[in-house]
Amino acid sequence: MKDAAIVMTAANRVNLPVGLYFIATPIGTARDITLRALDILASADVLAAEDTRSLRRLMDIHGIALEGRPMVAYHDHSGDGARAKLLGALKDGKSVAYASEAGTPLIADPGYQLGRAAREEGYLVTAAPGPSAAIAALTISGLPSDSFFFAGFAPNATGQRQTFFRAFVDVPGTLIFYESPNRVAKSIKDMATVFGADRKAVIARELTKKFEEVLSGSLRDLSDMLATRKLKGEIVVLVARGERDAFTDSDLEDLLKTELKTLSVKDAVASVMQETGVARRKIYQMALQLGNDA
Ligand code: SAM
Repeated sequence: MKDAAIVMTAANRVNLPVGLYFIATPIGTARDITLRALDILASADVLAAEDTRSLRRLMDIHGIALEGRPMVAYHDHSGDGARAKLLGALKDGKSVAYASEAGTPLIADPGYQLGRAAREEGYLVTAAPGPSAAIAALTISGLPSDSFFFAGFAPNATGQRQTFFRAFVDVPGTLIFYESPNRVAKSIKDMATVFGADRKAVIARELTKKFEEVLSGSLRDLSDMLATRKLKGEIVVLVARGERDAFTDSDLEDLLKTELKTLSVKDAVASVMQETGVARRKIYQMALQLGNDA
């Protein structure tokens, strides 16, 4: 898909009440920006960004002129100076739009300290929601999405990374991690050690871009694959919730019996699989056994 511009004119400008507007920006494809985000970028009195060059480029693609408005570089470690400047703009009755380099601000990205400070001072803090790699990856992973836990980036050192993973062993939902291509093989290996090599997992890479790819299998399968293949680009790793820890066989049987009262075997198996994340084969065999016993 080409990055054709939606040309913004003065007519696109809206009257923004004083406040801080967190804008989600594309994670690959420039057209993945909402019309409301474009309106806010065209209208805010002050623009602030983790990376001002990326925001300028995005605005250029979509035909939004800066028109003399200030653009301030901000990340949570910029220190109190940059934050005070943006809070000062709010105090002066201005609208401030903030974008991180890609995706949703605050999601493994800056913005938390700024949003908290603006909220504590009683200003409007609102969001123009949009892309986030975590949600895009979960959406296409084929892993249960009813409950999930976003864990961000793991630490660099192996020992610390394993300790970090251990905290999530019993989380009853799909785990979502951000990864780097240089480290993903080591992380998957550590995940296999901590979560067990049989846990199902997914690597989602280069989302919304030309080489988007989803690789799934057990952590053992993925670890074996990464021993011979070097992945490139931006990466999200998702790990299915543990089966045995969360649901005993008797839990599964009870759930199946309940579902089988109203559903066909096929639908009951699908429903229990969705609810528990347990492999279809296991639930299906249990359903057959229950049928035989009956
Ligand atoms: N705020 C962003 C969001 O909402 O997704 C995340 C920013 S974080 C600094 C960057 C990490 O997000 C990358 O290292 C990668 O793990 C993940 N990521 C960002 N874009 C991605 C993409 N197109 N495909 C896969 N992962 C991506």
